[in-house]
Amino acid sequence: MIDLSVDEPAQQFASDNYAGICPEAWQAMELANRGHVSSYGDDEWTARASDCFRSLFQTGCEVFLVFNGTAANSLALASLCQSYHSVICCDSAHVETDECGAPEFFSNGSKLLVAPGVNGKLTPESIHELATKRKDIHYPKPRVVTITQPTETGRLYSVDEVRAISAACKAHGLSLHMDGARFANACAALDCTPAELTWQSGVDVLCFGGTKNGMAVGEAVLFFDRTLATDFDYRCKQAGQLASKMRFLAAPWVGMLESGAWLTNARHANQCARYFAERVVGIPNIRMVSGAEANTVFLEASDEILERLRARGWKFYTFIGGAARFMFSWDTDLARVDELLRDLRACAA
Ligand SMILES: *Cc1c(COP(=O)(O)O)cnc(C)c1O
Repeated sequence: MIDLSVDEPAQQFASDNYAGICPEAWQAMELANRGHVSSYGDDEWTARASDCFRSLFQTGCEVFLVFNGTAANSLALASLCQSYHSVICCDSAHVETDECGAPEFFSNGSKLLVAPGVNGKLTPESIHELATKRKDIHYPKPRVVTITQPTETGRLYSVDEVRAISAACKAHGLSLHMDGARFANACAALDCTPAELTWQSGVDVLCFGGTKNGMAVGEAVLFFDRTLATDFDYRCKQAGQLASKMRFLAAPWVGMLESGAWLTNARHANQCARYFAERVVGIPNIRMVSGAEANTVFLEASDEILERLRARGWKFYTFIGGAARFMFSWDTDLARVDELLRDLRACAA
């Protein structure tokens, strides 16, 4: 037996992927761990997970399960363009800043065309500008737009904003991809259905994040325009993203979607962010850059204050969005948030 006397590490708010696996995903994994099952997605769990997505999104979309978000985004974008095409994104987009060139790599060179964000968001105007900037043979032809919902800076696109972006895409013959690493948090915050926020508003492909929502690992790529999914299974296999024991990527999704945990987890995370944001207001020398639209709060403070906070053992990122980021997850304990607030007050004084 392995030694099980391991201390439980205290909660941190550096990222929502610091959290563990939620009970619904864990239980489904346990159920999938019974007996022998066919491999590579030819199994009941994978079929059931795909059906869960189709009923949640109220449409007959094509569903693929991959290990992580970088693969989901990169392979989805690669399937939407040729190597001579380009992808319009926001300057703070994960595909631009945090994927090590994977979208360019998997598309064999499709260039990312970067627009300055307005509150970390792409606008119809910036899409129009980049799509019409050049028409000559020397420029990589714009073919796709990608938006992140909620954004890397914790902001939300309203349904109307997604629709306006989709209209700009249609006007220029561009496909629309959504990086939904925290898609559940967006649905919870906007109180709208997954369908409204995606295909009913013109999104062609969604990368739906499971990891930050409470799974161990796994993201789903959903093609609402099924013709775009041609040969996507081969693309996944070539990229090393076809799980041989696929049931263990699929079962947690079944657990999350059939129980509704995908939404309750996201609601909890968002509520904890709001709880934190409401109490940060009024702490001297701390400025809230953006407040808890979904499950993220960005704070501005002097380096001294942030150093003191780190010295008390708190972890947080400052390399995203130019401020200190605090993220809340499916299992955030409000007592621990209170401890953070107490230390924040002490360090800021
Ligand atoms: C976390 C995240 C991803 C996925 O990242 P991986 O580490 O590759 O799983 C994608 N997009 C955004 C906006 C993210 O925050």
